[in-house]
Amino acid sequence: MANIIDGKAIASQVRGEIADGVQRLIEQTGVTPGLAVIIVGDNPASQVYVRNKKRACEEVGMYSEVYELPATTTQAELTDLVRRLNKDNKIHGILVQLPLPKPLDEAEIIAEIDPSKDVDAFSAYNTGKIMIGDFDFLPCTPAGVMKLLEKSGIEVSGKECVVVGRSNIVGKPQAMLLLHANGTVTICHSRTKNLAEVTRRADILVVAIGKADFITGDMVKEGAVVIDVGMNRRADGKLTGDVDFASVEPKASYITPVPGGVGPMTITMLLQNTLTSAVNFARKTSLN
Ligand code: NDP
Repeated sequence: MANIIDGKAIASQVRGEIADGVQRLIEQTGVTPGLAVIIVGDNPASQVYVRNKKRACEEVGMYSEVYELPATTTQAELTDLVRRLNKDNKIHGILVQLPLPKPLDEAEIIAEIDPSKDVDAFSAYNTGKIMIGDFDFLPCTPAGVMKLLEKSGIEVSGKECVVVGRSNIVGKPQAMLLLHANGTVTICHSRTKNLAEVTRRADILVVAIGKADFITGDMVKEGAVVIDVGMNRRADGKLTGDVDFASVEPKASYITPVPGGVGPMTITMLLQNTLTSAVNFARKTSLN
């Protein structure tokens, strides 16, 4: 029987720590951390994420602004808004909710965000900083996974870590963070041969592929720590991960459920990044 890593409880604990940090910053410097969230079009899932982000900001005492723009918004209009927010001292984090409707160019918009306000850490600048291990912001989902490991007392150093998935927002930065924590890291993807042979080597297995219940018990080593990043909707509307919980849980030493595992950590780390940015802003302005 595995220990279930309770992402909701850990997220709530970390948000408490962030709320304390926000309060301290306001008292000591008068700076209230502020997050601007931009959503373009009417993707219902994105609208839910944006509402949750606004509520989460309020809960930890942060200021937030939400810009809901029509799907007809042009690249120039969106760029203007980002440039205005770059200069706005009330705003320390700018998040453009992805995906953007076509024909908007996501990469171009992300490149417009001031790197010091790029709290999603998706820009080439912040991605590069993660590569060299000198970073202010970590991409929220991989950072959330690292926090779950840390708060569960799971040591990464020297462990065989396997990440399944190599996207720019989850798999690649996840592998880099495990490497910085001194894990021995293997990255798998859709062209990996004999995937089960590789995943069975993992002491720590992180799965982010977007395929419901794909990793089964026979693909996991006895006693492995299994982190399921996947979020997939079943035909009945229920949320499920990339890991087949029923067959993997009996073999794992620790496992994250879906929902209630990695999911609650993502917004938590966004709040953490916004606080970090506001602290950096307060430090810079006090030096000037
Ligand atoms: P992407 O679709 O961008 O990437 C999926 C990756 O999985 C690719 O690298 C792909 O390989 C790999 N892959 C696909 N099929 C297989 C296979 N059969 N065997 C091995 N590897 C495979 O997805 P994301 O990284 O954006 O998201 C992954 C999952 O995580 C999704 O379910 C998403 O909803 C969830 N997610 C959850 C978050 C949270 O807060 N909990 C946040 C972000 C994402 P290749 O590169 O070769 O195509």
